[in-house]
Amino acid sequence: MATNGNESPKAVLEVNNLKIYYETPKGDVKAVDGVDFSLYEGEILGLVGESGCGKSTAAMGVLQLIVPPGRIVAGEIRMGDVDLLKLTGTELRKMRWTRLALIPQGAMNSLNPTMRISEQITDVIRQHEGKRSKDEMKTRILELLQWVGLPERIYNMYPHELSGGMKQRACIAMAIALNPAVIIADESTSALDVVVQRVVAQTMLKVKKAMGVSMIMIGHDMGLMAQMVDRMAVMYAGNIVEISGVEDIFKNPGHPYTELLIDSVPSLKERKPLKITEGITHDPRNPPPGCIFHLRCPFVMDRCRTEEPARQEIRPRQEVACHLYEKQEDGNYIDVRTIVTNP
Ligand code: SF4
Repeated sequence: MATNGNESPKAVLEVNNLKIYYETPKGDVKAVDGVDFSLYEGEILGLVGESGCGKSTAAMGVLQLIVPPGRIVAGEIRMGDVDLLKLTGTELRKMRWTRLALIPQGAMNSLNPTMRISEQITDVIRQHEGKRSKDEMKTRILELLQWVGLPERIYNMYPHELSGGMKQRACIAMAIALNPAVIIADESTSALDVVVQRVVAQTMLKVKKAMGVSMIMIGHDMGLMAQMVDRMAVMYAGNIVEISGVEDIFKNPGHPYTELLIDSVPSLKERKPLKITEGITHDPRNPPPGCIFHLRCPFVMDRCRTEEPARQEIRPRQEVACHLYEKQEDGNYIDVRTIVTNP
């Protein structure tokens, strides 16, 4: 992660109090309900959580690709001095691909089946940089294909002639074509088999390292996340409940939901029963008062049912929204479970 000389990392993207709701006849579904996070220069931030927790919606919100009945209700999405939510349609179009790019979930559905790969990449470049000579464009596209490990023959091919992994790498080539500051990868490896998944993941890491781009990686494969990201934000029911360095989160998870999520990952080394998170998520139109996780939390206390926990830095670079952590006079936090078990 890059620093500004005073060792404090520089944020390239800041999301504050982002709320995205979907209108339904029975009331608004609060898919993202007050999400805050920063993405620092040169880092990969993983956004994880179970299906429907709002991770993809939050990322699409950053790109402002939310379509009705969804809508952004509140928030601020800053890149430097610019609040993306205040931009006009034209200003926003100028930012897309040049400052913010997307590697989509399903490459097959996002590539145009009637256009060759070279034509699709040319389109992206022309939209922003205007017309270029045929030779110049070809050289540039071949370079991009080489960057993502695709052979030259891909240049003239149509998407249906490519394997799943190749299509995904063509999407990465498109995403890096205009050297953006931030790339959002929305479950970009989830539809691939594990071997191809590894190749695509390595391509993304190579691109990130060489270009110094910052990435938000969305997914639910904790194993893959552990290998790829620098920090991880754990989402539950439209809220970020923990955001920490990736090692901290695996070695010492702070939030009970993070603990359960990690305990549900099968291990090849150790035979252990997988833990399940009891109960089901509440109706997203009517979130419960207090802690968002209290209906399923094994450690629920009385105050959790009424008082919403603020996200606090319980250990360096580990922020958790949970009443289990109480600040002491010396500024450190204590886990109240240790008081109960070791009085
Ligand atoms: Fe569980 Fe309470 Fe912490 Fe929520 S605040 S996660 S209910 S202990």
